[in-house]
Amino acid sequence: MKKPKPEPNCTFNIDIQNTNQLTTDQLKGAEAELNSVLGAGNSGLSAVFNQGKADFTATFTNYSFGGNFFSSGVTSDTYGQNNVNEFAKLFLGAKPINSARVFLNNIAAVAGPNVGFAVGRVLAHEFGHWALGIFDSPDNGGIMQGGIEILSDRSLGRFIADDIKKLQALCAKLHHT
Ligand SMILES: [Zn+2]
Repeated sequence: MKKPKPEPNCTFNIDIQNTNQLTTDQLKGAEAELNSVLGAGNSGLSAVFNQGKADFTATFTNYSFGGNFFSSGVTSDTYGQNNVNEFAKLFLGAKPINSARVFLNNIAAVAGPNVGFAVGRVLAHEFGHWALGIFDSPDNGGIMQGGIEILSDRSLGRFIADDIKKLQALCAKLHHT
């Protein structure tokens, strides 16, 4: 049997804002888990952080009822939220844009001491919204399914094979031209 051709390596640039909200170890854990998700199955995909021109930007923040009152759909159960304008999403069919908020306190409430790992999973999911051009997909079968499951179950914490192919194509388009 012929060995499958190895995928060319390709690296996304991800900016994380407010990294000081996590400890150094938690941040390292988050970045490592995002790379585990991207690189699963020898996809050749990886990410570097806060280097060069960002493909995608995530802002670490904390949820509060008052602070997020006007942010439609954001509640104490929200781990991350794409920054697309809600009006444009609802009425103009706008796709997710290349930035999102990640709600550290909501994640810590369910992940406890595994907050770094869990933030990495949420980062991967939020990155996927933009990179795949999809909102939550309850029948996705992988990490784009969303919800608490992405933090615990192994297959639901990974991109499905079809989505990895799309990510490889996007990365090649952005970085191998
Ligand atoms: Zn989502």
